[in-house]
Amino acid sequence: MPTPAQRPRLPETSEAQIKARYAWNEGKAGKPRKAADMAVVEPCTVDGCGTPVTDTFRPPADGMTRVTSYADGVAEEHWYCVGRCAAIACARAELRAIPMRSDGDR
Ligand SMILES: [Zn+2]
Repeated sequence: MPTPAQRPRLPETSEAQIKARYAWNEGKAGKPRKAADMAVVEPCTVDGCGTPVTDTFRPPADGMTRVTSYADGVAEEHWYCVGRCAAIACARAELRAIPMRSDGDR
């Protein structure tokens, strides 16, 4: 299946095509602006976020949550900010828990 970049594109030159595009764009014309030049996920700058758990009852900062992941069957625990950081850490832990196939692929 061709990717969108490989699909042939016919120029929209007829008056009806231009009118339809203008209507679809709600009157906006011209080229779209460039995508923001930023990382998809900005690194967290909160002190102690992502640090390994040494004392289960003492997080490095108030309101941090413990996330357990299993790397090759070995449990690892880290502290993360509640919310986005913890959610990302949980998702990564779940991905890491997917067993590897014998050929090395997941
Ligand atoms: Zn964080």
